[in-house]
Amino acid sequence: MRNPCAGWSCRRLKIETMVQKYPSQLLEKAVQEFSKLPGIGRRTALRLVLYQLRQDAEDVQSFVEAIARMRQEVHYCQRCHNISDADICPICADSRRDTSIICVVENIQDVMAVENTQQYTGLYHVLGGVISPMDGIGPADLEIDSLVKRVEEDDIREVILALSSTMEGDTTNFYISRKLAPYDVKLSVIARGIPVGDELEYADEVTLGRSIINRTPFEGK
Ligand SMILES: [Zn+2]
Repeated sequence: MRNPCAGWSCRRLKIETMVQKYPSQLLEKAVQEFSKLPGIGRRTALRLVLYQLRQDAEDVQSFVEAIARMRQEVHYCQRCHNISDADICPICADSRRDTSIICVVENIQDVMAVENTQQYTGLYHVLGGVISPMDGIGPADLEIDSLVKRVEEDDIREVILALSSTMEGDTTNFYISRKLAPYDVKLSVIARGIPVGDELEYADEVTLGRSIINRTPFEGK
C-alpha cells in the first residue's frame, strides 16, 4: 500500500500538529484566548502567553484586571457615544467646547485622531460604523437617529461629516444629508487632498481631481 503520509501536505500537517501540541492545557487555553484577538495567530499568541508567564504574578494580575474592569465598567457617552468613564464623556462635559458644531465620525479611534490634531473645538457624534449592505449594516444599526435628534433638539449650527473616503462612507454621508435636509443646519465634509509631504505625481487621479475641485484660496505671503 502507498504510504498516505509521503506527500508535502502530510509534512505540513505534521508541522501543524507539532505547533498545536502543548505540554499544558492551561497554556493551550491561554493561547486559544489570545489568538481570538484580531491579527493574532497561534504562533504570536504563544509568544505573548510565554511572555506573560515570565512576568511577576502581580503584573499579570494587574494586566488581567485592567481588561476585565474596562469591559465591565466602561460607559458610552449618552450624547455622542464616545467611550467614557461616566454617562457623559469629558468632551461633551467640557464647557469650553463649541456646542454648536458636531463632527460625525465612524468610531472612537476617529475621535482620538481628530482630537490629536488640536484643530477642532466642537463636539462629536460616533456612528459606530458606516452603512455597508455587503456586511449587513443598515442605517438602523448606526447612531443616525440620535444624531438627527441632537440636531433637532440642540442649537446645532454645523454638522461636519468626517467619514472614510470609501463608497460606504459616501453612502452614509448621502443618507445623513437626506435625514438632515429638513433642518436649518450647515452640512460640510472634511477636505480630501494630497497628503502633506507627498509629491503630486504619486497621487491617484481621484484624490488629485478632488484636490483641484476643492482648491482653497492661497494665503501664503
Ligand atoms: Zn460625549
